[in-house]
Amino acid sequence: MMTLHGKASGAFSSITGEVTFTGRPFHSRGRAVLVTDRLGLSSLGYRGCIVSGGGRAGSCFPHHVCDVEDASHLHEGDIVSMDGSGRIRVLWEEGSSQNCLFLTERCNCRCVMCPQPPARSDSQPFLRQAEEVLNLLRGKKISDCCLTGGEPTLAGEDFFRLLRRAALEHPEALISVLTNGRLFSDKAFVRHLAGTPSRNVLFCVSLQSELDALHDEITGVKGSCVQTQQGIYHLAAHGFAVEIRTVISRYNYRYLPAFAEHIGNYFPFCAHCALMGLELHGHAEENARKLEVSPPEYAPYLKEAVRILERRGVPVSVYNVPLCMCPEEVRPRACRSISSWKNVYLPACSFCIQKEHCCGFFSTSASLPEEFLKPFTEGE
Ligand code: SF4
Ligand code: SF4
Repeated sequence: MMTLHGKASGAFSSITGEVTFTGRPFHSRGRAVLVTDRLGLSSLGYRGCIVSGGGRAGSCFPHHVCDVEDASHLHEGDIVSMDGSGRIRVLWEEGSSQNCLFLTERCNCRCVMCPQPPARSDSQPFLRQAEEVLNLLRGKKISDCCLTGGEPTLAGEDFFRLLRRAALEHPEALISVLTNGRLFSDKAFVRHLAGTPSRNVLFCVSLQSELDALHDEITGVKGSCVQTQQGIYHLAAHGFAVEIRTVISRYNYRYLPAFAEHIGNYFPFCAHCALMGLELHGHAEENARKLEVSPPEYAPYLKEAVRILERRGVPVSVYNVPLCMCPEEVRPRACRSISSWKNVYLPACSFCIQKEHCCGFFSTSASLPEEFLKPFTEGE
């Protein structure tokens, strides 16, 4: 999530609003945050202000954060939260297809490669914020919205309510849920999806291996492999589309072809399969020595897994693997998958003619496989 910093006008609690640079009529300023270079009479009535210049004392002015250097990174229609610490967080980026509603930091797995380690914090502030974002999006056309965490299903009834709201209020959008799927192994839990339209909802379920022992070792929870696979069946039985996601690591790369066969055999109904490169952050960074596998090492297995999935008629994509590190046959399946706010390229990439089609790298990764970089030139 992109975060900006400045000096807060005082100790105010979190404000969420829709960014405007151009200004609004007075009667519709109450849900907007004005971005301006200085406060004045035209700043009155807004929910808050983001000021690139200095602040101004006076109780008539809205709460504001001043001396914000990079306010130009914001767009008209973005949704931001700001608080008395001077922190401004972009909760919704207008025009982006990678927007998320973050529901909780809690998770019922402890994955060895988790880039955003779970925390036992109170989920209520996140849930209130997600609700506010949906309030501000009401009536707008959006293309995508992803419910995520932590494990979003741990929010229970709040999760189901927010999912239902997103799917019903935005029938034109793809509403996806990033989940480990464990709770859906409980048939009573899945029944809470009643009333949620399945037409525009996609469950993206992480499954790290078809081998119980290996999946459970990666997730840190015995029995999670069985639960996740039961969860996939229960979601599909309720008419929901399911994407299966797996992260390529030293633990599982040799088994990718067998994993692909397993999906073809047991989950041929799956809407999509994503084979994903690692983000070396959080637990993944701590466990880098156990997890890291170089692109040349996993390339033959990735190529074979993609071939098997294609042959079995399962749509497949490769995420987070730069084009020059993909086997040639796999490149058509590689996607620009990294959120723009944490997407970087290396200096040598500026000479590459494929840069605009390449996912590049995570800026958050502790190390990048620079030694395998090979810019594409004319004629390749
Ligand atoms: S990777 Fe996902 S399922 Fe695993 S611990 Fe992190 S949030 Fe939970
Ligand atoms: S050189 Fe850079 S931009 Fe080109 S394919 Fe490799 S990582 Fe991508």
